[in-house]
Amino acid sequence: MAAPIPMTTSEKRMKLPVFTVDECLNCHMKNKRAFKMGDYVFAAGNPCQSCKGNTMIIAIFAEQPPRR
Ligand SMILES: [Zn+2]
Repeated sequence: MAAPIPMTTSEKRMKLPVFTVDECLNCHMKNKRAFKMGDYVFAAGNPCQSCKGNTMIIAIFAEQPPRR
């Protein structure tokens, strides 16, 4: 029932570092980490760093590097 999320895999635009945010389903701790291929929102994330519980990816975003 969930519509497939359109994946933009144009490598030319992937200049910014991309991050993935996991949220623990048990203790709701959020963990930001580097995006890796295959990550997508609502997929299972890394085990929780706090309670080792299951996590779900809640956000994927690109971050602008600090400019100076
Ligand atoms: Zn947890």
